[in-house]
Amino acid sequence: MQVAIIYHEDFGKKGFSVLKERIQPSFEKLMESGLVDGEDVQVFRAKPAPIELVEECHTASHMLNMKNDPYREVAMLSVGSVMMAAEMVATGQAKRAFAYTGTAGHHASRGSCWGFCYFNDVAITIKRLRQMGLERFLIVDVDPHFGDGTRDFFKDDANVFHINLHSGSDEVLDTEKNNYDFGITFGAKNERFLTTLKSALDLVKDFDFQMAFLIFGHDSHQDDYGGFDLTIEAYPRMAQMILDAVGERGLVVVLSGGSCVHVAERVIPDVISVLAGRWPA
Ligand SMILES: [Zn+2]
Repeated sequence: MQVAIIYHEDFGKKGFSVLKERIQPSFEKLMESGLVDGEDVQVFRAKPAPIELVEECHTASHMLNMKNDPYREVAMLSVGSVMMAAEMVATGQAKRAFAYTGTAGHHASRGSCWGFCYFNDVAITIKRLRQMGLERFLIVDVDPHFGDGTRDFFKDDANVFHINLHSGSDEVLDTEKNNYDFGITFGAKNERFLTTLKSALDLVKDFDFQMAFLIFGHDSHQDDYGGFDLTIEAYPRMAQMILDAVGERGLVVVLSGGSCVHVAERVIPDVISVLAGRWPA
């Protein structure tokens, strides 16, 4: 199949308060869009991540802090969603995947977390993929908030090529450990964002990765709460640029920040239609 979509109704019911309102309406719009045809594009129900794997990635004190957190359960389900998406791509069941989440992951470090994040979904998933024999990964984080948790996991790991496009001034080009940060002016519009993304992706050309993750926060939309000023049109173009860079390798899109229902209703189906090779519709 071309695209596997991993979803669970609890993301909309029990997800982090800021993030959850967009979940069900965007999923309903997706189902109405005709994209999900039961063949090329299919929906699967997320399962919680295995606790042992989460414990291997986070410190014992972090796990203890999370023990009674009201969002713990939906955070485990969110990690499980990303993991299921990546496993389906790794085993060839799906060429690409889109993972819905109820909590985000990129601000979760080994020993702490903030900003609607609890466990680092992508880092835990990479641990799993390495058990399956994959080694080299590309992570493109376009959520306007800096992915500090993901950086904590991979800052010394040259086999993970980590790109952050964030609203800030930091520029990092660490070619030894493959950490790349592009600070874009607060309020950056479509062209600035897409031009920067293009130059970031140009750096990946010589890196021989096996699977890519797109950390997709639509809090970058002008009506949403993040630092960029993008419009609806930017998102399918962004997804297509990333798809062009990934080529025939696997791609997993991980839902990250964003709260605006009307934005999610448009950009989630739009991005999935790019993954399905059906853009423009
Ligand atoms: Zn964000």
